[in-house]
Amino acid sequence: MKRVAAFAYLLICVSAGGAFAQAGSGVGDAPGANQFGQPETIELIREVAKKWVASGAAPFGVGDVSKADAFVPPEHFATGDHKTGLGIDIRPIRKDNQPAGVRWQEPAYDRAATQKLVDMFNETGRVDRIAFGDAQVSGVKVYRGLDDHMHITVKPRLN
Ligand SMILES: [Zn+2]
Repeated sequence: MKRVAAFAYLLICVSAGGAFAQAGSGVGDAPGANQFGQPETIELIREVAKKWVASGAAPFGVGDVSKADAFVPPEHFATGDHKTGLGIDIRPIRKDNQPAGVRWQEPAYDRAATQKLVDMFNETGRVDRIAFGDAQVSGVKVYRGLDDHMHITVKPRLN
């Protein structure tokens, strides 16, 4: 079936001013994030966040999804996921659980926990691919330069 132009769907915001993190949903937003997305994108984030926190982990950081007016971050011109509302930027997990960014090359980076989060997203069957710079994480497409976040592409719902 034909999809309506993406803009019509970019109306759901994953969090407002970190409210979800405060509510313990597992989602902590990153400053400057544009967190609007397709319904399937937002549902996926919420579902995984709930499961993640239920496992005893600290909330993970969600960065850019899309902006209501379909802003595309400069580093993502190639994929355009952030324009369709199907792309999500997630911060790698830190060993100290601080709500801050980290690059996978830094000592504060927790590879095992990041792998667990990648697995949790992939296990939903609703992820097309996860791009990330750390070649030692399995289940990702290694993408040079993606050091401080993973870019998740959500499968569009066909209806
Ligand atoms: Zn991205």
